Amino acid sequence: MKSMTILYTIGDSLYVNLTNRCPCNCTFCVRHEKDSVCEGENLWLEREPSAEEVIEEFKKRNLEDYKEVVFCGYGEPLVRIDELIEVSKYIRSVSDIKIRVNSNGLADLVHGKNTAEMLKGWVDSISISLNAPSKEEYNEITKSQFGLKAFDGLLNFAKEAKKNIEDVQFSVVDCITEDQIERSRKISEELQIPLRVRKMIE
Ligand code: SF4
Repeated sequence: MKSMTILYTIGDSLYVNLTNRCPCNCTFCVRHEKDSVCEGENLWLEREPSAEEVIEEFKKRNLEDYKEVVFCGYGEPLVRIDELIEVSKYIRSVSDIKIRVNSNGLADLVHGKNTAEMLKGWVDSISISLNAPSKEEYNEITKSQFGLKAFDGLLNFAKEAKKNIEDVQFSVVDCITEDQIERSRKISEELQIPLRVRKMIE
């Protein structure tokens, strides 16, 4: 079953579901297990909403009710970076609410250009899924369509994000081993990007 759930809330964050497309097929992806991460809202889209449709949904909300807007959803939001920026521009025109993106960090490979610099001024914070400490292990976990190129693409994106976005974080999911988490931590220290260890969603 599909729906048109464009905005949804988790706690006091307002989430945006721009797309179901993603260049990965992570072993731990919540999309394998369920249709929703919020109460009853099906996040499989009938079709991708236009930026105008997303903005219309924002107009129905009072942004003062939320502490942040998060581009996340059931896919990789930066696959639709142009629409994401257009929506962020609208948000910025009406509010100074914090804007965060949860990303797999592969947008440069998807679009064939430096995408982090496009986000400058429109995004306050980005969380990038590091997922693993090496290109081989990354590939095993994410089954990225970019194969062994993916991990270096992600690291380059993260370095550029650090130059263009105020708050950049890496994350790994705690389904990997302690040793993999420690080696991921070393990469995060080298790049001076903090690492968050996320609990796997049951
Ligand atoms: S990058 Fe995110 S949305 Fe894509 S498969 Fe992995 S966990 Fe799922």
